[in-house]
Amino acid sequence: MPGFELFGEAERKHVNDVMQSGILMRYGFDGVRNGHWKAKEFEQTFAHRMGTQHCQLVSSGTAALTVALASAGIGAGDEVIMPTFTFVASFESVMLLGAVPVLVDIDDTLTLDPAAVEAAITPKTRCVMPVHMCGSMARLSELKRICSVHELVLLEDACQALGGTFEGKTLGSIGDLGCFSFDFVKTITCGEGGAVITNDAKIAKNADQFQDHGHDHIGNDRGAETHPFLGYNFRISELHAAVGLGQLEKLDQFLAIQKQHYTILRTALEKVDGVTFRTVPEGGEENYSFLNFFLPTQALTEKAHKALSEAGVDGCFYWFKNNWHYIKGWEHLRNLKSLGKLPQEVQQQIQDLNNTDFSKSDQWMGRTISSLIKLSWTEAQVLDRAKAMVAVCEKILFPQKTH
Ligand SMILES: *Cc1c(COP(=O)(O)O)cnc(C)c1O
Repeated sequence: MPGFELFGEAERKHVNDVMQSGILMRYGFDGVRNGHWKAKEFEQTFAHRMGTQHCQLVSSGTAALTVALASAGIGAGDEVIMPTFTFVASFESVMLLGAVPVLVDIDDTLTLDPAAVEAAITPKTRCVMPVHMCGSMARLSELKRICSVHELVLLEDACQALGGTFEGKTLGSIGDLGCFSFDFVKTITCGEGGAVITNDAKIAKNADQFQDHGHDHIGNDRGAETHPFLGYNFRISELHAAVGLGQLEKLDQFLAIQKQHYTILRTALEKVDGVTFRTVPEGGEENYSFLNFFLPTQALTEKAHKALSEAGVDGCFYWFKNNWHYIKGWEHLRNLKSLGKLPQEVQQQIQDLNNTDFSKSDQWMGRTISSLIKLSWTEAQVLDRAKAMVAVCEKILFPQKTH
């Protein structure tokens, strides 16, 4: 997944354009910026690549989620349904706006179970946020139907699935809004950065203004602009956008390498009895940033994860016991530990997360191992890795056999 592995000339060229004028801000200074508008250029190129009308570049993926929710009019007391398996940014962005995260079970796609979503809808529900974790996607047809029946906003968190597709459309472009992260370990990086994409002109305008203190961006005198509503500062700098432009030029190359490496590992592991794979909804294609597989039981999975690491197979994640990506590790959320007082709506409406039954999620996550797919591996290294992964899984699954 990490674009930082293939960093070079393209990024340097765009950064040098910015360094030559010294205009690090994305707005204004028209006469002295030598015609370089890196953030704007990124937005146009990215929207085109994603097949959407609009793109708003911001300072992080977390900012993208916050700006997306705010731009769709979500605020205090509104409920946002999200999965138990995601990155902490999902509930952070919701709670920053005084809205209430509602966590529901995942299924064999490793993201939202549509039946669990439907069961969690209340009169306060405003938004459903599938998170396309580890390169693959939620059951988007079912979620789209649910959102249209209940008039809910469908916001795709595609931070980990850039370049994946569903029925020929890019992930992130299927819901009302899609969000991406370009932090240092994502498919492409700006250093820090994020983006919101949408086909809704009103939402796009809201996003443009909200991420820049409410500036209306009319005319070319920043100081004279008006502020139609309250906003914040989630702007990206020209330097970060410049890095991102260099990376964006290589996105298709990154995706092709990921697919090659993934295919070698998957083909090898498919031959091991007892290893199964995460379900990709029909019509979907992953971005191949991770290979996600299941072992038959939690105990065997824990053993295999440990053995993989001992065998020197790095970059294998067991999210079930991880501090950042699964409900079990979010002790701070479960106990509402915050620096200041949380909004009353959050305090009153939030689930009792210490006593909610997420055993269905546990059953999938307890058996999941994800292998990161690196861009910098040589083919020989991928083949060695495949051999080592197969050997470890066979040894764990069939200990009686001699190897
Ligand atoms: C990385 C990530 C984010 C947050 O992005 P940052 O740019 O690190 O703020 C949000 N959601 C998911 C699923 C992510 O992986």
